[in-house]
Amino acid sequence: DKIQEMRLKYLADEPRIKAVTVLFSDLEGRLHMLDYDKKFLVKSSDNLTFDGSSIRGFTPQRESDLRLAIDWGAFYWAPSDIFGPGKILVFGEVLDKDGSQFTADIRGVLKAYSNDQFAKNGYTLNAANEIEGFVFQGLDAEQRYHETGKFEYVNTGGYYHSLPGDPLRQFIDTVAEVQRAMGFQNEKDHPEVAPSQFEINYSYGEVVAAADTIQLYKLICRQVAHKMGMTASFLPKPVVGVNGNGMHTNISVSKDGKNLFWEERGNENLSEFAWTFADRILTAGNDICLLLNSSVNAFRRLDPHFEAPNQIKVSATDRGSMVRVPIGNERSSRLEVRSVAPDANPYMVMLSVFKTGLDGKVSDVANLRQAERYLPDNIYDALADFRNAEWTSTLLGADVKERYADLKQGSADRCARQLGTFVKAQEVQYH
Ligand code: GLN
Ligand code: MG
Ligand code: MG
Ligand code: MG
Repeated sequence: DKIQEMRLKYLADEPRIKAVTVLFSDLEGRLHMLDYDKKFLVKSSDNLTFDGSSIRGFTPQRESDLRLAIDWGAFYWAPSDIFGPGKILVFGEVLDKDGSQFTADIRGVLKAYSNDQFAKNGYTLNAANEIEGFVFQGLDAEQRYHETGKFEYVNTGGYYHSLPGDPLRQFIDTVAEVQRAMGFQNEKDHPEVAPSQFEINYSYGEVVAAADTIQLYKLICRQVAHKMGMTASFLPKPVVGVNGNGMHTNISVSKDGKNLFWEERGNENLSEFAWTFADRILTAGNDICLLLNSSVNAFRRLDPHFEAPNQIKVSATDRGSMVRVPIGNERSSRLEVRSVAPDANPYMVMLSVFKTGLDGKVSDVANLRQAERYLPDNIYDALADFRNAEWTSTLLGADVKERYADLKQGSADRCARQLGTFVKAQEVQYH
């Protein structure tokens, strides 16, 4: 198509570009990179293959060959001072040997779902994420955690606290500058509530691009921190006793440029369409919790004493509820899903939230918004809810559901075994 032609011509003609890195994510959301020499890629871009057998959640050995199709619309120039000279980052779609959709590549599944919603209903799915993280002292902060049981802050800050020369401030400024160079529409950034914690916000986008930029955001943060001799961490709860890291997912649906969530006279200025969307998410609150909180550690974060939700509820003010209605206007009207952790697979988060909101079931409307219902407070309960729910089979297909559950069961069991007791198993888990 047109865009492919344009990009290929740009790559061929631009002498500064030497290599192209194709990005894709495994079932749990880890970002994978394949570096192609530019000249090779320009010649062979329609016929890229790779071995999927070593990628968790992808394929069993006997069917390891997979195809990679480049998504030429998801094309980013990588600033050389951070990524090295002459590089392009572009997202790829994983396809089966025969070119059909590969069901464990959730980016591809999300893209198909989003295209389908547009074709059928004219809906555009929009999302904006507030991604929190910490920076810790040293390049080997995670290794040192295992030795000393501690992460070391780089400052003693607090919300909005900024001093010139503060390493956290310098980190935030550099990340924001890299984002601007890559075409992000930045909005605001600030040190977060906990010492050494940050949040860098940018504008909303169409759902697949929004998930791609989450992957890029984390990549940029890690890269910039490394350059500064620090480690960026998106563990949901790296330090006990202070706020954890959330990834509040702000969502809306538009049609013909009109925000379908807005209704001037509606309850909280939200339309019935938006309220039904929210009700479906509440109904499936337990079932999809494991998709939004996908690590052992994520369940430590879900504590309202630290501004993280533990209740299956919608509220305009209560930050202990899973869904919040921020004040908005015709353009910005949205729902904020707060029970999302930044180490979840962002494509899975988007798929879960939108597909549940648009196609899920609503049970017992009268009770839903009042009932005292709580999110699971540990990964084993979340796993049981996920496995037992009919909805998660519809959401992901039986095969992907099972693979995902098995991976999570594996990491929970590993953690519990290593640390001896179940309570301790909640403490820390990396991936
Ligand atoms: N850190 C909180 C969380 O875990 C959010 C705090 C905030 O954004 N004010 O969700
Ligand atoms: Mg925020
Ligand atoms: Mg925040
Ligand atoms: Mg928020």
